[in-house]
Amino acid sequence: MTAISPAPIAPAFTNAELAAVRADFPLLGVAVNGHPLVYLDSGATSQKPRSVIDVERDYYETENAAVHRGAHTLAALATERFEDARATVARFVGARADEIVWTSNATEAINLVAYAIGNATAGRGGTAAERFRLAPGDEIVVTELEHHANLIPWQELAARTGAVLRFIPVDDAGALRMDEAARLIGPRTRILAFTHVSNVLGSVTPVGELVELAREVGALTVLDACQSAPHLSLDLAALGVDFAAFSGHKMLGPTGIGVLYGRRELLNALPPFLTGGSMITTVTMESAEYLPAPQRFEAGTQRVSQAIALATAVDYLQSVGVERIAQHEARLGARLVEGLARIPGVTVLGPAVGEHRVGLATFDVAGVHSHDVGQFLDDRGIAVRVGHHCAQPLHRRLGRVSSTRASAYLYTTDDEVDAFLAGVVAATAFFGVSA
Ligand code: PLP
Repeated sequence: MTAISPAPIAPAFTNAELAAVRADFPLLGVAVNGHPLVYLDSGATSQKPRSVIDVERDYYETENAAVHRGAHTLAALATERFEDARATVARFVGARADEIVWTSNATEAINLVAYAIGNATAGRGGTAAERFRLAPGDEIVVTELEHHANLIPWQELAARTGAVLRFIPVDDAGALRMDEAARLIGPRTRILAFTHVSNVLGSVTPVGELVELAREVGALTVLDACQSAPHLSLDLAALGVDFAAFSGHKMLGPTGIGVLYGRRELLNALPPFLTGGSMITTVTMESAEYLPAPQRFEAGTQRVSQAIALATAVDYLQSVGVERIAQHEARLGARLVEGLARIPGVTVLGPAVGEHRVGLATFDVAGVHSHDVGQFLDDRGIAVRVGHHCAQPLHRRLGRVSSTRASAYLYTTDDEVDAFLAGVVAATAFFGVSA
């Protein structure tokens, strides 16, 4: 096979622009173990710009109140900020504001859909919810790429309803077997849940083809957009998925806020998951009627400062430019993969050099546990993720117990990637790795 050298990706930022971005992130200036921090764990959680940190404090200092409840001025102000934040996030992902439900994270968003479908199957939600009801033998299809957050909720739903969980396998390189997808998705398929970008391999899933296969058989689609919303320009309406989930903390926002997107008519037909205050119209001692979406899924006192801060994070991403960020990361991803592939004893998992991936690279060092690699790099101030990255089945399929992942973001520099690569070279020498 002839090796094809990928065309180099042009820098998206000048050095001065990148330095200005980095100056907005206070934590990037800290030292770790006596070295300047090299933060290559943004796939787990991103660092936060000062505007995001400040807006939460400002909110508590000047506007804090419970939303959708009080008649007083502060409550009205807080409600306005909260709903404006929803509109900002909705625009960012190509959705309407009433299609955005706040959750604590993507994990909760996916569980919300799965539990609500379980509630529909148990007879809740009246005739509107009939389209969600599962019968024993109906099929829920996921992929072998999934993070546990988009696997276990479906295992649980299958166990509760008698549905059968099936999965689209990957090949030896971790690419989704689309021939198998076409074979597996059939008349009994009711739900197809899949990741947009693999958190382990950085590969991008063919969403359009999968949505088409699901549509042909009338199945609902649930997209795990955790690793795409922060890194790629996302238009959920154009992608045509029915539901999608992502977390604020991976896209410069705070922890404690996530998003469930659902097509409006579906959200309004789905019975609630959590029930209680703020999601009802009328309550008697015997029963309750629910508000339309999104409020029917937002029971209890809401995460107002986090929602406002997530909208501030979105503003920040847009001010830098989502397309530029994607280009910057694609370039860093290529630098990571090309650099790692040259180190004897190192195997990069996932797409080959030159194939499309976001700015992350996951690798195995022959004969060395990822925890030892991570510890060695940490001694040099380099933060990476080690372990199975909440994707045990994928690791098992690829014949690995664990791996090491370096993930970049808009603030990552070429010099940091090079420091990391030098660290991996030093680790292979230290542990006596041979090719
Ligand atoms: N899905 C993917 C692809 C992820 O990478 C993650 C987090 O790493 C999740 C889901 C879960 O996100 P959270 O822990 O924020 O709910």
